[in-house]
Amino acid sequence: MPFYDLRCSNCGEEFNVRASMSDREEKRIRCPKCGDNRLEAIFSNVNIIRSREKSDMPSCPNAHICGKYCNH
Ligand SMILES: [Zn+2]
Repeated sequence: MPFYDLRCSNCGEEFNVRASMSDREEKRIRCPKCGDNRLEAIFSNVNIIRSREKSDMPSCPNAHICGKYCNH
């Protein structure tokens, strides 16, 4: 399940929640502070996760042969 960084439209509380796509689409996620379900997504952490995944990719195109240790 993906993590979402959300901000409450009612009270401004920012929180991180792990929920399924349908939980979010059906507005089953609620603010832990006031219980409101009008939440905006904050996308900053999504970009951090994506760049981490990219840096973990083997840089050598022959990594499956050389075992990633060739420093190419
Ligand atoms: Zn709230």
